[in-house]
Amino acid sequence: MDATLEGELVSLRSEEGSITEIGPEVTAAEGDETIDASGLALVPGFVNAHTHAAMALFRGFADDLPLTTWLEDHIWPAEARLEPKHVYWGTRLACAEMIRTGTTAFWDMYWHPEAVARAVEDAGLRAVVAAPLIDGSDAAKARADADEALDLVRESASGRVRAGYAPHALYTVSLDSLRWVAERAEEREGTVQIHLSETQKEVEDCVAAHGVRPAFHLDRAGLLGPNTIVAHGVWLDEAELELIAERGATVVTNPVANLKLAVGGLFPYFAARERGVGMGIGTDGPGSNNSLDLLSDLKTFALLQKNAAFDAAAVDASETLQLGRGEASELLRGPALAVGDAADFLLVRMSAPELAMGELDAGLVYAASGSVIDTTVVAGRTLMRGGELEGVGEVVAKAQECALEIGVA
Ligand SMILES: [Zn+2]
Repeated sequence: MDATLEGELVSLRSEEGSITEIGPEVTAAEGDETIDASGLALVPGFVNAHTHAAMALFRGFADDLPLTTWLEDHIWPAEARLEPKHVYWGTRLACAEMIRTGTTAFWDMYWHPEAVARAVEDAGLRAVVAAPLIDGSDAAKARADADEALDLVRESASGRVRAGYAPHALYTVSLDSLRWVAERAEEREGTVQIHLSETQKEVEDCVAAHGVRPAFHLDRAGLLGPNTIVAHGVWLDEAELELIAERGATVVTNPVANLKLAVGGLFPYFAARERGVGMGIGTDGPGSNNSLDLLSDLKTFALLQKNAAFDAAAVDASETLQLGRGEASELLRGPALAVGDAADFLLVRMSAPELAMGELDAGLVYAASGSVIDTTVVAGRTLMRGGELEGVGEVVAKAQECALEIGVA
């Protein structure tokens, strides 16, 4: 009740997970559970469009190492010890942080996806969940596992969790398996997430092995369509962006993780925007960011792009927020603050020192952190109120136990 929306006091009513009324005249009906939102701004939730949530367990483990050493000597051996319960509590830990910082939906690629799906269900968020597909020595088994993972996610999830495929990257999945994913994703109505052009080496290796740059290789497999998101895209060239725009795929930039792992380049945002490429923004895994606070990625994104363009006006706070809300891609777009849409929203503390002055959009992108979020609601259910997240103590304790068990704490 009495939240501020674009300078006006409004109230919002939801029933069975959807918004039934919104506006200045809306009143509570008998039996309604109400939230006093005076002093709070009503805004849509954030969409973290690429992460590996359970890697919250690896936060602060083996930092400050080169990408290959970090992966091969530290992360992969630890991941080999993961059981579903570790992934469950790691994902719950990540969800707790996302709820606190205003993320209402995320795209996840990780092992034991059925445990991820259960964690998302229990935490109350929305997610698209997929298991990484890596050919390894047995491509047939990898494909069967990916199919089974999709079944398991669908079995353990309600409408808030969707299942998909996640071929890991061009350097870990053969053209044959990529083609298989394209067919299966279409047959089974699953989305596709893949890492693409994160490092320059990846591009050089792709050209050497296949004679074409990564986006063209992906297109050859039939995977570059409107249900695909490609994460990173740092080294995409103009011809690739043209192709991606034509096919209607979405590129997700991960500015903080790219900086932390020193990939050396910058996502060509303006070239992509000019061509009408669908775009989103993600944190990438908390092992390589290390935060899941999307506001920090939004600020970094805007500053990097302004600086690269030699133009402070090249991208503004509202455009950056649109990216953070999934509004720059049909695939990522979340519900709007409108009757009939799902009741997913945030209430933001306008009296917070970071937000008390000036425009809200600029305050959110340039001054605030996720700590200004007072209330997070997904599908009409209040997941956090007054900055207090119920049960967070247990989640942290369980995650710490799991980190000890797998030897990363
Ligand atoms: Zn990733």
